Amino acid sequence: MPLTAHFFEGKSPDVALVIAGVHGSEVSGIEVAQWILVKLYRRINADREKGRPHYTTIIIPELFPDQAALARQCSRRDVDPQLQTLCDDNHSRGGRYIPVSQRGQRIVLSQTRGRTSVPAGDNVSNYKFIEPNRQFPPPALPLSYLNRRPGPTFPDGTPIPGVPLLDETRWLLQFIEFYKPKRIASVHAHSIPNVIEKGTDAPGIFVDPRYKYDKRGCLNDPMVPTDPQKQRELGIKPNPFETNPCKFDLAKDPAFPVIGLIKQLNDTIANMNKDDPKVQNVRNLIEQTQKLFAGEKENHAESRAKAEEAANEAERNLNFRRVRPTSDIARTRDNDRLALEIARMAQTEGARVPGNWLGEMGREVMHYAKSAATRPGFSLGDWGPVDVKSGTAPSGPPVYSVPDKDPGIRDGAPVITVEVYQYPESGAFRDGVQIVDEDCKPLDPKQFGPIVNVPRCKELQAYAKALLTIFLDRPA
Ligand SMILES: [Zn+2]
Repeated sequence: MPLTAHFFEGKSPDVALVIAGVHGSEVSGIEVAQWILVKLYRRINADREKGRPHYTTIIIPELFPDQAALARQCSRRDVDPQLQTLCDDNHSRGGRYIPVSQRGQRIVLSQTRGRTSVPAGDNVSNYKFIEPNRQFPPPALPLSYLNRRPGPTFPDGTPIPGVPLLDETRWLLQFIEFYKPKRIASVHAHSIPNVIEKGTDAPGIFVDPRYKYDKRGCLNDPMVPTDPQKQRELGIKPNPFETNPCKFDLAKDPAFPVIGLIKQLNDTIANMNKDDPKVQNVRNLIEQTQKLFAGEKENHAESRAKAEEAANEAERNLNFRRVRPTSDIARTRDNDRLALEIARMAQTEGARVPGNWLGEMGREVMHYAKSAATRPGFSLGDWGPVDVKSGTAPSGPPVYSVPDKDPGIRDGAPVITVEVYQYPESGAFRDGVQIVDEDCKPLDPKQFGPIVNVPRCKELQAYAKALLTIFLDRPA
């Protein structure tokens, strides 16, 4: 399927990029992008000059259209038995992941009369599935770096086994390198966790701010013991794709209550006598917390309780004083404030953003926690915000030099991730064609259309309005 992008000349030549459908199953996010298009086209049709957004705007509403088509058929339960397994299967989740053959060849799902089918003779149980948002070059490196390799790589340049660079990712990378956007928004969707607590991902609006990638500093993960022997003992493997320790101030950030507390405790005991039983006791509790944390998938209730125990112990015996989490940085760093303002407006307009904790003034959450272990690879949020400069890059094999004229040289751009509340779309668009107006009333009153979920139609427009007003219209 060809990539469809919509261009809008802005009042400023600075480019803002909005993409949706990186995960095809997240169709509510695609509808948000469609609503932005509706609203922008309406404005421009009314007044070509005044209707323009501030930023020169590029919108890619469906990065993986085949996957989105499959997801919609899955939700209608209108698929053949072969594909039903893709809908139900955790490896595919009906369009989230991209099927390839065992040898890494892309499987082209064909669309016939609005129905998806697998190539004749294929058995879907032989497919492997690629996570489309773990395809990006190591931060600070351009696309040309991946072009010399079979696909995405580890930070040291080793290819990730069996993972080809998907065409859509290549196109997106070329787009970003050509237009060099100043800000990027990627619209996803998120289910509601069983427990909504800080430190567990939930629907909301988050940002990966511009940052400096530092291969060693990024691996400084408080939840991984530094001693390799200890790592084996506890069964905790360091994640070579980790970036949070060099992106965020983990100790103070309200997004990371458990990690932040453990970081503070690690820092406290770092220079203390290792053989002191009081220090040993705290260290044991830290390690128990790390082990619990690594095993948790849904939430961090147990590790949080254990981290509290460690902190209480350290307060009693080691003069430890914990730092209060604060989003002060979020309020003063432009990139974070951008996310906060989008979240506030989305909520005011009627969107649910529980993951932002907007009720807790001064302790709002603007950063994504990554609750469960992810598949290998760097995400758009890891790669997009980092400058790509000519000369030696801080990632890549021991030394990699970006050529002076590489087309990928650019300033990093903050990546806003919109996690729309739940997956379902409202039904306002049928195969990309708008069937209701912005009041969610049928465009053709005589037509017996499919039922449109009106509250949902309004909620998804709330995200669109916030992105339009704050992300596209308001100068930095
Ligand atoms: Zn997603």
